[in-house]
Amino acid sequence: MTDESVDKEVAAITRNGVPHYRMYIDGAWVDTSDHYEVVNPATGEICETSARATTDHVDAAVAAAGRAFAEGSWRKTDPVERAAIFDRAAAALSARTDEIATTVARETGMAIRTAGALGVGFPMMHLQYFADLTRRFDWTRSAPIAGPVLHSGYIRKEPLGVCAGITPWNFPASTAVWKSIPAMAAGNSVVLKVDEKTPSFALELAGLLHDAGLPAGVFNVIVGDGPVIGEHLVRHDDVSLISFTGSTVTGRRVMANASESIKRVLLELGGKSANVVLDDADIDLAVDGAIYAFALHAGQACESGSRLLLPASKHDEFVARLIARLQTMKIGDPLDPATDMGAVMSPAQLKRIRDYIELGKEEGATLAYGGGTPSGPEFAQGYWVEPTVFTGVSNGMRIAQEEIFGPVLSVITYDSVDEAVEIANDSAYGLAAGVWSTDNARAIAVAERLEAGSVWINDWHNMSQYLPFGGYKQSGIGRELGPDSLEEFTQDKSITVDLSGDLSKRAYGIVLGTPPS
Ligand code: NAD
Repeated sequence: MTDESVDKEVAAITRNGVPHYRMYIDGAWVDTSDHYEVVNPATGEICETSARATTDHVDAAVAAAGRAFAEGSWRKTDPVERAAIFDRAAAALSARTDEIATTVARETGMAIRTAGALGVGFPMMHLQYFADLTRRFDWTRSAPIAGPVLHSGYIRKEPLGVCAGITPWNFPASTAVWKSIPAMAAGNSVVLKVDEKTPSFALELAGLLHDAGLPAGVFNVIVGDGPVIGEHLVRHDDVSLISFTGSTVTGRRVMANASESIKRVLLELGGKSANVVLDDADIDLAVDGAIYAFALHAGQACESGSRLLLPASKHDEFVARLIARLQTMKIGDPLDPATDMGAVMSPAQLKRIRDYIELGKEEGATLAYGGGTPSGPEFAQGYWVEPTVFTGVSNGMRIAQEEIFGPVLSVITYDSVDEAVEIANDSAYGLAAGVWSTDNARAIAVAERLEAGSVWINDWHNMSQYLPFGGYKQSGIGRELGPDSLEEFTQDKSITVDLSGDLSKRAYGIVLGTPPS
């Protein structure tokens, strides 16, 4: 392990002609001799490298976080001062949004317009929101007085200790912000393990917070794989909470491992979200909305609208217009501002998507659009798949039940609104859903029947900071964003003072009886 103390600087240094990211532990940049090579999915070329954690780094990061918590200056800092640090980091991020969005687009294959607006723009707003929330949050509340025993008191919202965050590769910026900032706002220390394919944002965030005045040890970022490094962090006895975003399969394992020491667990997992078009929908709006829902970031979004439910009477017209619109989409270089959809993440992800496309054909669905590699010399390298539409899908097929995590849409028809609701809810997942209609009252009536944490009417991917985001059913436990997001990282302590003058009214007086005179 080699350390370099951090001065005001960005997280990356240049090594072998590409940016090299070191980890951030106990307020210092930490490098390793063994490195990860981060590949640009659009070209297959190495775009950066990063340090590679061992379990010793996990232990060092947890120990640093534990020391910072025990020493207590951060958790005892006035929340207004904590918020000021987040504000300064948000302002510095805002000044570097274009540059950081470019790095994220290069790492993830995400089209630059998406990376700028949703990939980095949203998390920047979320950081500002968490700063505001830190100032406004009721850290102490009066305890209600009830029952025969007269007491006065209050409830303190206390931090838990060391909170661990584990993030996926698809939206590395939002997930890093959601897992770290509310936890630190509540006075906890954080160890964040990021996916080795997309390390840059979290490490840039560490640099920004460092420069903004965050004390050493409060925020630590390590880069490592899941099965060894992630698992070691989850099982660590000195970690009190795990906030995990990833697949439902891994989430199940995280929950089981966390149960060994009864850690609190927040899980943001997968989805198979239903997008319900009612027969009075504005078709132009709904066609574009359906594409936005399933093809954003090449379908690699947990809340993707991957099941499209169409009224049988509108099916043919809708699908024809959907395909015509897909033909106008520009797929290609993620860094070209004209690009609508970029590459998929990795060879493994490409294989998974292609396997599901083959499965869809075997299951008897009709491949109505796409299914292959876009044509052109620019697609000879990197990992590419066309936006793909299956029609004739029944909800029992695996392509309608399993998360593909690629730009693959399953179109299912229905005959009545009741049937649409039944199909939409017939899923192990419950992350998001959508309803398209020109009649708001009708759309709301359907939205209220859908089993999902977020339901968007005539919209999709609304990840507003003001709205809680999280899953029903096997899509997760807990909520990120929204007015209650700090609650998830606090525990309640009730402090009461017994004010009963008369001994017989005190609880122990009732139990022990009146003392003999
Ligand atoms: P993944 O579950 O394979 O990995 C997610 C993270 O967990 C990575 O950092 C990985 O290294 C780590 N990990 C893997 N095995 C682990 C283990 N045994 N113990 C601890 N950590 C481990 O998921 P992915 O392929 O990186 O991401 C895609 C998945 O994430 C999709 O299912 C998607 O729906 C989900 N996702 C959900 C949300 C949400 O908010 N609900 C957001 C983004 C992504």
